[in-house]
Amino acid sequence: MAVNLLDFDLEGLAAFCESLGEKKFRATQLFRWVHQKGADQFDDMSDLARSLRDKLKGNAEITALPVMTQHISADGTIKWLFDVGGGDAVETVFIPESDRGTLCISSQAGCAVGCRFCSTGHQGFSRNLKTWEILAQLWFAEHFLRKHLGVQERVISNVVMMGMGEPLQNYAALVPALRTMLDDHGYGLSRRRVTVSTSGVVPMMDRLKDDCPVALAVSLHAPTDVLRDNLVPLNKKYPLVELLSACKRYLERAPRDFITFEYCMLDGVNDSPEHARALLTLVREADIPCKFNLIPFNPFPASGLLRSKNNVVQEFARILLDGGLVTTVRKTRGDDIDAACGQLAGDVKDRTNVSNRISKQRTIMLQQIGEQKNFN
Ligand code: SF4
Repeated sequence: MAVNLLDFDLEGLAAFCESLGEKKFRATQLFRWVHQKGADQFDDMSDLARSLRDKLKGNAEITALPVMTQHISADGTIKWLFDVGGGDAVETVFIPESDRGTLCISSQAGCAVGCRFCSTGHQGFSRNLKTWEILAQLWFAEHFLRKHLGVQERVISNVVMMGMGEPLQNYAALVPALRTMLDDHGYGLSRRRVTVSTSGVVPMMDRLKDDCPVALAVSLHAPTDVLRDNLVPLNKKYPLVELLSACKRYLERAPRDFITFEYCMLDGVNDSPEHARALLTLVREADIPCKFNLIPFNPFPASGLLRSKNNVVQEFARILLDGGLVTTVRKTRGDDIDAACGQLAGDVKDRTNVSNRISKQRTIMLQQIGEQKNFN
């Protein structure tokens, strides 16, 4: 069976080349063709010997995930829904800003953590994505965007593993994907421009700091164990004291870094001034260099939760800022193409009138592409 070359980091590709009786250094050329030039046909790889190309044709392929839908928002945000087979779909989102282009990538179909405010969590867990399925999201988006914008240079400057799934519960597939993102022969992203977001899988945080210490974001969402147990069930296994110790250990490997704490603002649940003051005390006592990212909740019916009022979010942010914590409020992007992460994929999983919906979305996509060639 042909091997998908998107499944390898450079070391893995070198081993594959050796298994074909080729010198290891050929892997670097091949890796560049795949990730830097976006080639998916071996015949296009003009500086590879014909004999190698023939061997590759018989043993390998470069295959992306089928795109089910593509939505382009008025603000330039693009959301793709990729088919990963078995009735599952995953989402990938590109968010353009004046100084960067960020791609949000999924690591699992569904998620087992089951956070109360998360649409993906409500769908349950289907399966881990393979390395190639994680990287195919970046490979497709980067080369689609270059073609779409008519540019040769890199469009995606930042990657966040914040899409569907808990990346640290798919560790074996995640690490080669991260290494490919960082590799100078791959996407050449700096360590600080690749962020893994975790709900707090403590043992894997410890492994990541040694294996591939990229930037870390932690989904905190509550200042106490009682509240966090309710919002992020994984807290029962790894309570706050253990989570914060793991954050501290993580930063020992990257002392000039900080942890980003994500905090989803839920009306009447975790958004009072008392919660803000408790957070301040929590991170001060733990003595962790950090910044806070307050996220306006995207309501979806099954959650039974509501978005905090704007003035409540502002007051919450002010308390953290006055307490000396760097705090940002995440802008909502792409509101016109759908709401919370996981909702499109959830609709596919639900199978509710799915073929009608997909054909409707395809029509919308074609209209959008036609109307909005210049989205940036
Ligand atoms: S927030 Fe993240 S960890 Fe929690 S259920 Fe959603 S995808 Fe899983």
